[in-house]
Amino acid sequence: MLIFEKRRAAASAAIALTIAMCGTGMGLTAAAARPRTAAAIVIDAGHGGIDAGVCGVNTGVKESDINLAIAKRLRSRFAGAGMDCVMTRTTGAGLYGSTAKGFKMRDMQKRRQIIEDCDASMVISIHQNTCALPSRRGSHVFFDKDSAGGRELALSIQSRMNALYGGECDNSALAGDYYMLKCTSEPSVIVECGFLSNAEDEKLLSDPQYIERVADAIFSGVIYYLA
Ligand SMILES: [Zn+2]
Repeated sequence: MLIFEKRRAAASAAIALTIAMCGTGMGLTAAAARPRTAAAIVIDAGHGGIDAGVCGVNTGVKESDINLAIAKRLRSRFAGAGMDCVMTRTTGAGLYGSTAKGFKMRDMQKRRQIIEDCDASMVISIHQNTCALPSRRGSHVFFDKDSAGGRELALSIQSRMNALYGGECDNSALAGDYYMLKCTSEPSVIVECGFLSNAEDEKLLSDPQYIERVADAIFSGVIYYLA
């Protein structure tokens, strides 16, 4: 499907949702109004299994668990809006199959296969960051430098992630050269939600209520991009 057509289909779903949510939908439900042509949004919870990603500086909380928690809550937002979404993983297990040598590449290839198989209209990969400088905080949303749609989507999500910090963290969306940004020509972003090397971010990201707010921020960023 052409990029424009996919985006238009997804935007129709978002607009139908907005109408339904505003209570002026003349009996339409978001699900009933969803165009059949709307392609799936892929939510990718990074890492899993023996690959925990980065760990919290104080508690050792695993990035892989936080990523999955955010991904599941984001899925429920999309599902509630009648928008098709596909998760690359729904459990704590990795996608590599065997832990033999090369597991990381097998894990990444499996994610790519899922994205290709569902003809994704968008990819949102969820991760947490780390830095040798413990004071470093906040979110960074990455996009592929050659994707105008990816950049636009990243800017939309970044501004809403920054809002979670109430003006204390005015980070920029960044171009990045990452495998998960190149699995499809459709808009793809990596959302690094916060720094587990920072004690305050670690505390926030370990709080279920904050996880809900992160999911809201990402969802809102996607809806505004589509609309
Ligand atoms: Zn990661």
